[in-house]
Amino acid sequence: MNLSQEHLSVATTCPYCGVGCGVKATPQGPQFATVAGDTAHPSNFGKLCVKGSALGETLGLEGRLLHPQVREEGKLRQASWDEALDRAAGQWRAIVDEHGPDAVALYVSGQLLTEDYYVANKLMKGYVGSANIDTNSRLCMSSAVAGHKRAFGEDLVPVNYDDLENADMIVLAGSNLAWCHPILFQRIMRAKEARPGLKLIVIDPRRTATCELADLHLPVKPGTDVWLFNGLLAYLSKSGAADPAFIANHTRGLDEALEAADISPEDVAQACKLPLDDVLAFYDAFAATAKVITGFSMGVNQSSAGTDKVNAIINCHLVTGRIGKPGMGPFSITGQPNAMGGREVGGLANMLAAHLDLDKPEHRAAVQEFWGSPRIADKPGLKAVDLFQAIESGKVKAVWVIATNPIVSLPDADQVRRALSKAELVIASDVVLGTDTNAYAHVLLPALAWGEKDGTVTNSERRISRQRTFLPAPGEARGDWKILCEFAQRLGYDGFDFAHQSEIFAEHARLSAWRNTPDALPRAFDIGTLAEIDRAGYDAMEPVQWPLGRRVFADQRFSFPDGRARFVPTAPRLPVNTAGGEYPLVLNTGRVRDQWHTMTRTGRAPKLAEHTPESFVDLHPQDALLCGVRDGELARISSQWGSMVARVRHGGGIARGSVFVPIHWNGQNASDARVGAVVNPVVDPVSGEPEFKHTPVMVDRFPVQ
Ligand code: SF4
Repeated sequence: MNLSQEHLSVATTCPYCGVGCGVKATPQGPQFATVAGDTAHPSNFGKLCVKGSALGETLGLEGRLLHPQVREEGKLRQASWDEALDRAAGQWRAIVDEHGPDAVALYVSGQLLTEDYYVANKLMKGYVGSANIDTNSRLCMSSAVAGHKRAFGEDLVPVNYDDLENADMIVLAGSNLAWCHPILFQRIMRAKEARPGLKLIVIDPRRTATCELADLHLPVKPGTDVWLFNGLLAYLSKSGAADPAFIANHTRGLDEALEAADISPEDVAQACKLPLDDVLAFYDAFAATAKVITGFSMGVNQSSAGTDKVNAIINCHLVTGRIGKPGMGPFSITGQPNAMGGREVGGLANMLAAHLDLDKPEHRAAVQEFWGSPRIADKPGLKAVDLFQAIESGKVKAVWVIATNPIVSLPDADQVRRALSKAELVIASDVVLGTDTNAYAHVLLPALAWGEKDGTVTNSERRISRQRTFLPAPGEARGDWKILCEFAQRLGYDGFDFAHQSEIFAEHARLSAWRNTPDALPRAFDIGTLAEIDRAGYDAMEPVQWPLGRRVFADQRFSFPDGRARFVPTAPRLPVNTAGGEYPLVLNTGRVRDQWHTMTRTGRAPKLAEHTPESFVDLHPQDALLCGVRDGELARISSQWGSMVARVRHGGGIARGSVFVPIHWNGQNASDARVGAVVNPVVDPVSGEPEFKHTPVMVDRFPVQ
């Protein structure tokens, strides 16, 4: 970057949530910049939430990892790039030679740019020959991916942001949109101001900030969403709201789904611990409103029945034919800035690039042929929780952790610590020094941060936007795709000689249009028209939504060979571990308004710390009394997996029997505040997504006398 042009602002994208807001960044010297919302970006039209507005405060080099490091005699010391990469690649190769490709793994992040993600997947699946590459997006939206694939034959989100403004009713299930996706929430607020008839119904065990705008709040018993939506399916099919022509011409499997959903509103009210009148009010409103969107997020996905919850929601849209048209549809709202881009390139251990299927031999052959790679992974790899268990057991001996902090963020996080302490080789790429995870690295590689790196991200409405460089690369930090390519070249692989990230994007776009698969199914994910993009075109690229120029499912054709969507029977089941005995309370986890993930970035902004200065546990006052803890005291929250310490807060919209703890605080305080250490490692059997919303716990005073 020419610093004499520092008065010029650069159009880029916020690195936090999946809303994907456009940001104009104006450099103020080599380390800092001011930010403002990009009025031309169709996600936010110039608005930014508190986190986005404070992005400028999070810049600077304090705490940055600026040089490669290698561990010697137990201590990390600075090394050259050559030494660090030679050591990482040499040990990696030796492990693969001795134990096979499944003895190594990558664990990556929804923070990565699509180009980084693409190269990481190509390396593991096409060259190493293992699908042991998973991502922290497994923790956030893998149940939605699995639900979409079961219902539509492809992972597709059939709603656009402007549909929220066209809807007559919005249902938010397990989504505190006001805090977790604030700009989308503001769009709904403004739509409601303009059209007071627009109804908002919130389904959440907690009374969150989102409920302040709701016409109806349904505080369901934790884990009972399938009962509620099964009851809705049964109600809709009997109430005349069903669309017989759509069902007959565009779907399969309604009878089986109805058999599994045979429940009355009275039984729903009992199972979900809701007033019957409220259940009926929700069902009647849904039945009577054609333009309805059901938005869902972590409260649905992060469950041992997460995929079934997603399909129970989709079933209600299929039975009414409310999909593929303006103002209606099921809407998975992604948590991370590039959860969607990661999915496009096959970023999960059970997926292949370009929405192709790892379990289909013809798809594997097609991708291998496109890459010209020596091999292709022939079976799904280990999903996040299983991966770290396999590291601890010694089955996986080397792991490369990129842009994430699993010792804080994964469930049973002490197990992750044990796993990394046992691994023969831990490589970590990061932008900051001294995270809980980096302390276990044998090789530590400095990566470029937001503002320094350059590439694309895709938001919740499938809109690809550019993240652009507006600050110079500090120290010896490099882009993640570049580090991966140099590592791959040391392993002797061709196919990684990209000179610029635009070349990776163009290859990714070409693969999306690759039609050499025997089934030749139409896939909605196709950005082939961008395949010829050159560097100038890439640099100038405006936000673009796929599928290009058309609405998802507007033709009412789905991505199965017969073109029909599938109803999925969803028999309700309770969370795996239920509260009782020694652990009488249910732990729910989530975000606070002004922090992001493990706070490596937002923790630097004083303004953001003002909202919630420290970790806390929200308790109902009567439960607090029973636990012997008072408002403002420190408490220990324990499960059979681990414990943490946080400050007691009475209230927080929490119902009796539940507690809420935020996910952000790490283990580097005087007392360990990692809620991940407490969360049970139970996962959804279909998606592998952990049950972050339901761990039996006890709460007592800290320190215990
Ligand atoms: Fe960033 Fe999300 Fe806030 Fe937009 S809503 S500014 S993407 S954190």
